[in-house]
Amino acid sequence: MKENEMRKVVLVTGGAGFIGANFLEYFCKKYPQYQMINLDKLTYAGNLDNLKECDSLPNYAFVKGDICDNELVEQVFQNYKITDVIHFAAESHVDNSIKNPRAFVETNVLGTFTLLENFRKHSSGRFHHISTDEVYGSLGKDGYFTESTLYAPNSPYSASKASSDMLVRSYFYTYGTNVVTTNCSNNYGPKQYQEKLIPTIIRTALSEQPIPIYGDGKNIRDWLYVLDHCKAVDLVFHKGRSGETYNIGGHNERNNIDIATKICEILDIKLPRNNGKSYKELITFVKDRPGHDRRYAIDATKLQTELGWQAEETFDTGIVKTVEWYIK
Ligand code: NAD
Repeated sequence: MKENEMRKVVLVTGGAGFIGANFLEYFCKKYPQYQMINLDKLTYAGNLDNLKECDSLPNYAFVKGDICDNELVEQVFQNYKITDVIHFAAESHVDNSIKNPRAFVETNVLGTFTLLENFRKHSSGRFHHISTDEVYGSLGKDGYFTESTLYAPNSPYSASKASSDMLVRSYFYTYGTNVVTTNCSNNYGPKQYQEKLIPTIIRTALSEQPIPIYGDGKNIRDWLYVLDHCKAVDLVFHKGRSGETYNIGGHNERNNIDIATKICEILDIKLPRNNGKSYKELITFVKDRPGHDRRYAIDATKLQTELGWQAEETFDTGIVKTVEWYIK
């Protein structure tokens, strides 16, 4: 029997968030033979409306709870006989980590630790840890992050994710736990919480408010359509080598001001303003975020050559789909 035909009971954490919900919708439908358990605390960023498509599926169940709550996590592992974990749950917004770093250390570090401990005790499959390219710090004008780039996190968010990556790594070397980690670049697409850059641009534009852009707007991120991320996770979860890390990114470097301009141009066509002016006139530069990393860019060669992954969506096609989703 091929591995992906075997019966698995997969604990997905943070499945009511942006990437987790897109992933569950994709994964529950693709693998009806797997039972999927979504454990989510439903913080401000979790939204069960994101999972309407999954609710009616027989292989999907939801448990409300905190990944830091050892008693509850242990019950979930035992009651459902969890075989595998795909761990998305996190405090994920850099600005919030500057105001309240404690929640980031609790969920991202202690929560990951609690899951690893229970996984080690109760499960025999794979622990897939979802992480970010922000752990590598900031790039200059040139170069890319590879899997061997040294970690240099600059915000409490990226520091807490880097810590969780290190814990996951240590379980492989210390206990031989079957782990993989993926470090992905910035995601965009449907279901993202309104605080993040792209939903903020669309929301403020459509409500005729100033569109806030940090600093000079020249900070560069490598944007990946969320479904391409989900497909990469699927590949690494099933075929990645244990103990390895894989970078995920689509070679779509864009600076913030170009993204805002592009979205305004799409909105100008799809929903022209009553006053006949372009949405671009609403773009407003605001005081920069402290410690704002200048540039991130991913080298995903390892994932491409080892597992044959390629991003299917370009930024130009993905951003139109995204804007259309938010308009709806
Ligand atoms: P999100 O903030 O949209 O969702 C996070 C989810 O985790 C929410 O549903 C929230 O309720 C849940 N959660 C938070 N704390 C919890 C706790 N203590 N116990 C249980 N559930 C809890 O985040 P996202 O953008 O979907 O990111 C998912 C993962 O992907 C994170 O680990 C993040 O670091 C990583 N990542 C995100 C991006 C991106 O661009 N969004 C890029 C790379 C990696």
